[in-house]
Amino acid sequence: MLHERLASIYDNVLSRNPGEIEFHQAVREVLESIGPVLAKHPEYAESKIIERICEPERQIIFRVPWEDDRGEVQINRGFRVEFNSALGPYKGGLRFHPSVYLGIVKFLGFEQIFKNALTGLPIGGGKGGSDFDPKGRSAREVMRFCQSFMTELYRHIGEYTDVPAGDIGVGQREVGYLFGQYKRITNRYESGVITGKGLSYGGAQVRTEATGYGCAFFVEEMLKARGTSFDGRRVVVSGAGNVALYTIEKVQQLGGVVIACSDSSGYILDEKGIDLGLLKQVKEVERRRLDVYAERRGDGVSFVSGRSVWEVPCEVAMPSATQNEITGRDAEALVRGGCVAVGEGANMPTAPEGIRIFQEAGVAFGPGKAANAGGVATSALEMQQNASRDSWTFEFSEQRLREIMCDIHARCLETADEYGMPGDYVAGANIGGFKQVADAMLSLGLI
Ligand code: NDP
Repeated sequence: MLHERLASIYDNVLSRNPGEIEFHQAVREVLESIGPVLAKHPEYAESKIIERICEPERQIIFRVPWEDDRGEVQINRGFRVEFNSALGPYKGGLRFHPSVYLGIVKFLGFEQIFKNALTGLPIGGGKGGSDFDPKGRSAREVMRFCQSFMTELYRHIGEYTDVPAGDIGVGQREVGYLFGQYKRITNRYESGVITGKGLSYGGAQVRTEATGYGCAFFVEEMLKARGTSFDGRRVVVSGAGNVALYTIEKVQQLGGVVIACSDSSGYILDEKGIDLGLLKQVKEVERRRLDVYAERRGDGVSFVSGRSVWEVPCEVAMPSATQNEITGRDAEALVRGGCVAVGEGANMPTAPEGIRIFQEAGVAFGPGKAANAGGVATSALEMQQNASRDSWTFEFSEQRLREIMCDIHARCLETADEYGMPGDYVAGANIGGFKQVADAMLSLGLI
């Protein structure tokens, strides 16, 4: 239920942004949490802080023409939504996936504002991407696409303005092509203009691992707060991309047994515990499907085509693929199967009905804004290293990441307590992130 004033703001968001259902969902989730903040801080309403936060500072939509390997011209659409720069330069990844449209980019950019605030680091919120589908494209096609994309994007970004990174379909290879084109056009070696770079050209240790590792650290803290740990627990991770692979790696190091993961073709069930070396070979090196993992791993491992991994019972669920992948029915099945904790590695992977079911069942639920903030936090550390022309060791960087995740966890719990919702990480993350941005906006005047 929304407080009356918030309901009218939400109605306005619906009418100003027709058809953008993921954006509506992301806004609603935040508005549902912040009623108690408005009661305590009437100055936010007086200055229309919420209305301003819901309207991006700038939205850029552009044509991306490129030539495929047959010499045929292809046209895609590019986006960059610069949502909020009260705390620092816009910061957020680029997603290349055929489902990308303005509503997806705006939902991701909106979430990013609060997530970035929670890290305590000086970064604003933004997001971008394209409806380009990298699947089945050669490396040269991907390079030509990235070069064309950056040929427009370069004029809008910069280390003090807007700093993109990767997301679905944009890994280190794509970041390299994008940075190379930026450098070529601007004649500037401006390392801090993009994060997720390779280690040989200004990248930071632990950035590749950061989102997954960070999510595992966050869930470890949630389990600790309930007097338990990962030790020996059955864990299911969805996806088999950047976030999923490094979630699996850290969960295994922390003693959990990851028995299943998925990709867009289906899922694998490996009761002995996933062989991460083999999984990385299949997904990261060969860029193939999960049936190849099952085939090579042999005995007792099954590949289930076209079904949801959330039908596998587990004690800890770590959705790390895409938005709205855990439906209300999936959540019910997970609760019945003995799930005690959920950590969102992906952005908004649990549908609103699913969140309600988890929370009512007393499952510890770590929303993406908090649980997957390790990626962007380590990106901010990459910017810090680029600015000081320094590079930190793996151990030091991982330690910084762990401290940041523990701080975010503590802040969520403290904020939830302060507003009378003990243990509610969703409220803690939304209120904590919102207050920080709102206070900065008040101080900066009418921006
Ligand atoms: P990747 O492209 O590396 O991996 C995505 C994985 O999810 C792939 O295994 C892909 O399958 C699967 N997948 C994607 N879309 C679908 C779909 N519609 N249905 C089923 N499976 C799907 O992306 P990331 O790991 O970087 O991102 C995963 C999630 O984490 C996203 O929600 C992203 O926004 C979020 N995130 C990422 C961060 C980062 O640092 N990378 C930071 C914070 C959040 P396939 O292998 O078949 O393509």
